[in-house]
Amino acid sequence: MLDIKWIRQNGERVQTVADQKGIELSVKELLDCDESRRKLLNEAEQHRESRNKTSQQIGRLVSRGDFMRVAALKAEVAQVNVELAMIEKELTAAEERYASLMQLVPNDVSPDTPIGRSDEDNVEIRRVGVPIAADFEMLDHIALGNMHGMIDIPRGVKTAGTRNYYLSGDGVLLHRAVQQLALDLLLASGFTLLDVPLMVRPDAMRHTGFFPLGEDQIYKVAEENKVMIGTSEVPLVAYYSNEVVDVTDPLRLAAASVCFRSEVGSTGKDVQGLYRVHQFAKVEQVIVCEADAELSDRLLGEITGNAEELLRLLELPYRVMAVCTGDMSQKTYKQYDIETWMPSRQAYGETHSSSNLHDFQARRANIRYRDTEGNLRYCHTLNNTAVASPRILIPLLENHQAADGSIYVPVALRPYLGGRERLYPKA
Ligand code: AMP
Repeated sequence: MLDIKWIRQNGERVQTVADQKGIELSVKELLDCDESRRKLLNEAEQHRESRNKTSQQIGRLVSRGDFMRVAALKAEVAQVNVELAMIEKELTAAEERYASLMQLVPNDVSPDTPIGRSDEDNVEIRRVGVPIAADFEMLDHIALGNMHGMIDIPRGVKTAGTRNYYLSGDGVLLHRAVQQLALDLLLASGFTLLDVPLMVRPDAMRHTGFFPLGEDQIYKVAEENKVMIGTSEVPLVAYYSNEVVDVTDPLRLAAASVCFRSEVGSTGKDVQGLYRVHQFAKVEQVIVCEADAELSDRLLGEITGNAEELLRLLELPYRVMAVCTGDMSQKTYKQYDIETWMPSRQAYGETHSSSNLHDFQARRANIRYRDTEGNLRYCHTLNNTAVASPRILIPLLENHQAADGSIYVPVALRPYLGGRERLYPKA
C-alpha cells in the first residue's frame, strides 16, 4: 500500500511502475475515484451539519410554541435525510471502488532496478564458484534420487497428484539437514526462530501483500475461512501486524515451514522432478526495521549475504541477479534472486529470492515504530529465502555426484548426517 497523498503527487510515476510490473491499473481512475469520494464525504458532512442546525432550530421553535415553522423545518430535515441517504449510498460505492483500486497500486521500485519484461531481462551482478566439468556422463537428480532410494515421484503423484513427491531415507536426512544448517546459520547471525501457523486468516495475506494479486496461487480451506501459506514470510510479518514495535535494533525473524503453492499459470513449466512442486519446505528470513532507505538497503545486502553463505557452505556455484521490474511482484521495491548451477538444466536455476519492500507491507499490516522525535512511522520490511528444499536438492545431488553414483557430502552438512563424507547408491 502506498500513501494516497504520495500517489496524488506522483500519479504518472505510479502508472509507469504499474505498467512496468504488468499490473492492470488506471491511476487516473483511482484519482478520479479518490476525488469523488472526497467530494461525497464533504457533501455528506454538509448535509449532517445542516440537519443538526435545523434540528436545534426546531428545538428552540418548539419551546416557543411556533408550530407552523416547526412543521416546515421538519419537512426540510426529511428532505435533507433523503438526500443524505443517496449521498451515503454513492459514497459507500465510491469507497469500495477506491479500496479495491488501492489494493492494486504497486510499490515504487528502486532507481537501480533494471527495467524489463521478464526474468530474461534480469541482470547478473556476480558469479561465485565454477560449474564442474565432469569427465563422465552426469545423471539428473531424479536418476540419482532413484539410485539412492531418496526420491519417489510416481508414488507422490499416485497419492497426491502431479507436482508431488515422497522423499525417503537419505533424501529425508538431506532435506532436513539443509534446513537445520540454515536455521543454525541464522541463529548465529542474531535471528529469532519462530515456529509459525501454516493456515492463516485471509487478512494476514492482505496485510502482507499476497492478496488480492496472487490469490490464485493459494490453497483455501473454505470451511475454516483460512488459507494455507505459500511462504512463512506471511506469518512472520503478520506477527507484528497492528503493533507499535521497537526497532532500535532491526527485528530479525526466521522460520522453517512447509509452503503450499497451487502453481496456477505454470502449466507445462518445469514438470520434471523436484523443481516446481505444490508442497515444499523453506527456511525464511524476515527483517523489520526503521523506515530508513539506506539502512534497509544495507539489510537487503545482509540477508542476501546469509543466503550466499549457505550456498558457500553447501559448496555450490551460484550467481546473483538484479531482478527487473517485469519479474517483480507488486509489493517489491528492490529484489535480488540467487540462481544455483543445475547440471541437468545446463543452466542456473532460481533457489533464493531477496526483497526489500520499504514500507509497503507495513502500511497494509499497520506495523509502526516511534522515531526519535516521537512520531509514529511505518517500518520497512525485508525477506529472503535461507534455503528451500527439495529444490536445493537438485544442485546438491547433481553438482556433488561422482562417476560411481556416490554423492559427496559438503563438510558443513556432515554433522547433520552422522559425519558421513559420501552417500552411496543402494546396492
Ligand atoms: P519465493 O517465495 O516465491 O520468492 O520463492 C523462494 C524460493 O522458494 C525459490 O527461489 C525456490 O527455491 C523455492 N520455491 C518457490 N516455489 C517453489 C515451488 N513451486 N516448488 C519448489 N520450490 C519452490
